[in-house]
Amino acid sequence: MPKDDSSQHHELIILGSGPAGLTAALYAARANLAPLVLEGNQPGGQLTITTDVENYPGFPDGILGPELMDLMRKQAQRFGAEVRFEEASSVDLSERPFRVHGEGDDVYLAAALIVATGAAARLLGLESESELMGYGVSTCATCDGFFFREKEVVIVGGGDSAIEEAIYLTKHATKVTVIHRREELRASKILQDRAMANDKIEWLWNKQLTEVLGSREEGVHGVRIRDTQTGEESEYPTQGVFVAIGHVPNTSFLAEQLDLDDNGYIPVREPSTQTSVEAVFACGDVADSVYRQAVTAAGTGCRAAIDAERWLEAQA
Ligand code: NAP
Repeated sequence: MPKDDSSQHHELIILGSGPAGLTAALYAARANLAPLVLEGNQPGGQLTITTDVENYPGFPDGILGPELMDLMRKQAQRFGAEVRFEEASSVDLSERPFRVHGEGDDVYLAAALIVATGAAARLLGLESESELMGYGVSTCATCDGFFFREKEVVIVGGGDSAIEEAIYLTKHATKVTVIHRREELRASKILQDRAMANDKIEWLWNKQLTEVLGSREEGVHGVRIRDTQTGEESEYPTQGVFVAIGHVPNTSFLAEQLDLDDNGYIPVREPSTQTSVEAVFACGDVADSVYRQAVTAAGTGCRAAIDAERWLEAQA
């Protein structure tokens, strides 16, 4: 039987525990709302799979992503936020209190809800990519780079993530080849300059990865690539493939419950964080396909908590 008792009733539930969710939790806790945070399957969010964070204000020497998230969680808990290792599998927003279904039998009731579930790595969508994920293919250089010590790897993408991860991978791999579908990087100039100056990094411009070559038994031994201008196909030897081509918002569990845009992001009524459903607010990457920074996520988390607090106050 679902555990649907009053002990599971909360004024405010926050889904997600990245910078947006935990900042919302901090503000809501300080407003005496005793929010319940359901962390999701990656507590701390995307920053926990990164290394140095150099652009979060207040840390002139940088800070490790997992450490920053640990501090944010402790800060929210200090003021009374309850943080639970639980993922929302579905929600029912058709009436209030809203119902949030956990992974097991638990059903949590909430007067107001903040969705801060972030985004996850986008994949190329190749059969060989999913077949060899974890067997030589990875979406997280900081998690898996270590396994490629003294090996040659490729990384797909031309944004900040790909270039940052390419630089990181040179600590382990003997050669890192960036495969980018254009001849111009999207990454910031400072990262580009660092990567260009790194002898271990090579570049394959105007190339699309079309197949990962290898097997689960023997790992990856190469990739097939297509020139985006000439259409010419070729093979390139490598022992590891890192995919860093952006992210997709984690909104599938919300299907049909509230409005999403064509890319699955949650539109909010700027300048508020109000979604298409009254008393449901969204913040962080799940509602932001443009800025997607830890600090902007934290900023919108603060706004969502204030919006929720004001809404709850108006009901009293
Ligand atoms: P991104 O900026 O969206 O870049 C994605 C890259 O992948 C682009 O170069 C794109 O190519 C390429 N790509 C997309 N789909 C592809 C496909 N199907 N096949 C091949 N290539 C594909 O994503 P991101 O690098 O993950 O960065 C996301 C956000 O986080 C950005 O705002 C970024 O500034 C931020 N970020 C910042 C830092 C930092 O400041 N240290 C570090 C990491 C991320 P095109 O260029 O041709 O579109």
